[in-house]
Amino acid sequence: MRLYEFEAKKLFKQFGIPVPQSFLAGSVEEVEKGWAALGLPLVLKCQVLTGGRGKAGGIKVISNAHEIVPEAERLLALRIKGYPVKSLLVEKALSISREYYLGITINRADYKIAVIASGCGGVDIEKIAAETPEMIHKVELDIDEKLYTFQAINLARKLGIGGEKVKSFAQIALALFGFFKSYDAKLAEINPLAMTSAGDLVAADARVSLDDDALSRHPDLAKMGIEKRHEEGELTPRELRARDWEIPYLDLDGDIGMFPGGAGFGIMGNDFIQYFGGKPANFMDSGGGPTPERIAKMLILLDENPQVKVIFGARFGGISRCDDFAKGVVKFLREHGLSKPMVVRMTGNMWQEGVRIFQNAREESPRLFEKIEFHGIEVPIEDIARRAVQLSKEAG
Ligand code: GDP
Ligand code: MN
Repeated sequence: MRLYEFEAKKLFKQFGIPVPQSFLAGSVEEVEKGWAALGLPLVLKCQVLTGGRGKAGGIKVISNAHEIVPEAERLLALRIKGYPVKSLLVEKALSISREYYLGITINRADYKIAVIASGCGGVDIEKIAAETPEMIHKVELDIDEKLYTFQAINLARKLGIGGEKVKSFAQIALALFGFFKSYDAKLAEINPLAMTSAGDLVAADARVSLDDDALSRHPDLAKMGIEKRHEEGELTPRELRARDWEIPYLDLDGDIGMFPGGAGFGIMGNDFIQYFGGKPANFMDSGGGPTPERIAKMLILLDENPQVKVIFGARFGGISRCDDFAKGVVKFLREHGLSKPMVVRMTGNMWQEGVRIFQNAREESPRLFEKIEFHGIEVPIEDIARRAVQLSKEAG
């Protein structure tokens, strides 16, 4: 889970990393009301969960008071790489004399923590790594090793930092490392780590990504308003799995697993569930003419999702035929098994053949079908949706 710059900086500050004085503003009025306390020049920074805001025009240094309102208006209306800007971080501007890079991440190839530093800050680290790899300096640590002061001092020297400033660099690197470990981060990055004209090192930017699976270990984050969120651009493990299977799939936060037939039916089904007071756990589309294999995979996604309490199936056989649908469901039942109640309605192209497949399979092994309620065209889809909602409520 990625953090906004303002969230990351709040945490950095707690760990003793110097950050500029700032406040968060959700509207032009809030910018107007608060900026005087910071004075000029100041920087308006779009808060979006992506980097490269500078290049996209999302960072604006302001030196004249009359620019503040029009610029705040412009920035709040911006979309950066598809992300709408909902708030601005208003910061006291730094007078930057040099920009460094400092980041900590996990090297997944060899299970090490990599502390990375460069004298070429401010730009994309990937770009530096590709074009001038000699400008990148790295300390790799085993997962239970700590970062020692001498290692941080060595990094500082390699960046050409000298004198007293070596100590402040080392202090920041150790603090960042402390943060990284304490919060189970996957990435903690300061780019740029700015050297001000007064000779202070300050985190001008902050980029953090936390391990979703470790969030429960940090209840203090929720108290700070940092809640688990689904983001564009960052897929959940289930969404990744679905993507590998080429199934259009999106996790939602309800408890009814949506097993649709046809995209239109999928959307309508979600609408019905909401209408009857239930909450879909996902949106899914079978992705056009699904094979029995794909149908089985769709059910695996739902059955293995611990959030799902009941599965709601609505298959309208069109080009994708009901017999293929039935084969897929039976395949799933035989090879995987169903662990939660499922209500399904099947109608349309080849439905008689579909029903026959179900009947045969059920006669063969009735136990596989214990948790399923099957319906055809005689029961309207609304009733099926209502039944699914009812079952989800009964499941608590
Ligand atoms: P990013 O583009 O999303 O990485 O956003 P940054 O926060 O890193 O800002 C991009 C660039 O804007 C930085 O590399 C700086 O050159 C510049 N910048 C950011 N904050 C300040 C500031 O306080 N003063 C000055 N002079 N430049 C800044
Ligand atoms: Mn940056």
